[in-house]
Amino acid sequence: MLNKKSIDDINVKGKRVLVRCDFNVPLQEGKITDENRLVAALPTIKKLVADGGKIILCSHLGKPKGEPKPELSLAPVAVRLSELLGQEVKFAADPEVVGPNAKAAVEAMKDGDIVLLENTRYRAEETKNGEEFSKELASLCDVFVNDAFGTAHRAHCSNVGVTKFVDTAVVGYLMQKEIDFLGNAVNNPERPFVAILGGAKVSSKISVIENLLDKVDTLIIGGGMSYTFSKARGGHIGKSLCEDDYQEYALNMLKKAEEKGVKLLLPVDNRIGDDFSNDANIQVVKSGNIPDEWEGLDIGPETEKLFADAVKDAKTVVWNGPMGCFEMPNFAHGTETVAKALAETDAITIIGGGDSAAAVNILGYGDKMTHISTGGGASLEFLEGKELPGVAAANDK
Ligand code: AMP
Repeated sequence: MLNKKSIDDINVKGKRVLVRCDFNVPLQEGKITDENRLVAALPTIKKLVADGGKIILCSHLGKPKGEPKPELSLAPVAVRLSELLGQEVKFAADPEVVGPNAKAAVEAMKDGDIVLLENTRYRAEETKNGEEFSKELASLCDVFVNDAFGTAHRAHCSNVGVTKFVDTAVVGYLMQKEIDFLGNAVNNPERPFVAILGGAKVSSKISVIENLLDKVDTLIIGGGMSYTFSKARGGHIGKSLCEDDYQEYALNMLKKAEEKGVKLLLPVDNRIGDDFSNDANIQVVKSGNIPDEWEGLDIGPETEKLFADAVKDAKTVVWNGPMGCFEMPNFAHGTETVAKALAETDAITIIGGGDSAAAVNILGYGDKMTHISTGGGASLEFLEGKELPGVAAANDK
């Protein structure tokens, strides 16, 4: 059980609080095109302001590769955050992040004021977890709060290094929610516990499959990765995606599931195309019966029913990876059906970041899910059962 101190467990009145946020927003010609991450950060910021802290925000944005790049400045974020919060967020425009502007701005702060530092990745040490920059960040604050889950699987100065030089390091509300669901609900689930895995490759999900096989009652495998399983069982998969090197692994997983009493569900039919294109001719065939010049691009209707039925009586469901090439509308049906089934079940529903999170949101089911993770890589590593450096660095309760 991960039991980390959060902003609800400390008193920040009059203290300088450095908050690592995830303000890695898409920008087009200096304009923020999707402000979800800013909106998501507001509850933590508002709570710290209400408690009378002096709030110093920091984040990375894009990949400036260790040097100032004006197009990746956080200046537009300060402007938009000021509007969203209805109070000034003072931007400290130092190319070295912790420079004269930041120091003077922090020095002048009153309780409840907010300052935003420049893009932490303007400093080359940031992604190397260098000591000097970590110390500089720590020198600005009395308390550190990590609310950036997207980088929690990396050890950088602004989420891990800094914690070595401050006494109090806690998590914000966004991090707490990720820990509660991806960490604790997955490790200590209400049963029946069903995991649905999809996406392109078996090879990128091996550790997830292995970790979840020890925990779930039912494991559902769809998407591109299911064809390697189908071929390993002697099926005909035509031109479908397949990792021949992983066939033996697939058979081992099937055996392991049987030994553990885990129900492992694979597609029983597929929507196939005669080309990797939305305009391909389409037919539905039984899995393992795909003609030579055709490829499986989605699960079929019988499989949709099988998978949807499997989550109906579940108490906890975790989903990572699409059921087919959902970017092509003609092959998005399987992914949509799974999203709908999750929206309709009474179970705790946890969506691992990336494509499945995007699919759920685009389809308008976002508010029907218990938790949609904000981190792609970080959520996958959580599901692999790994310790995330950004989580580990926070003080235990
Ligand atoms: P991942 O990043 O591993 O979760 O994979 C996501 C990608 O897998 C998406 O871009 C899907 O288009 C792709 N994908 C899912 N099913 C298939 C399939 N049957 N054939 C080829 N690609 C697929």
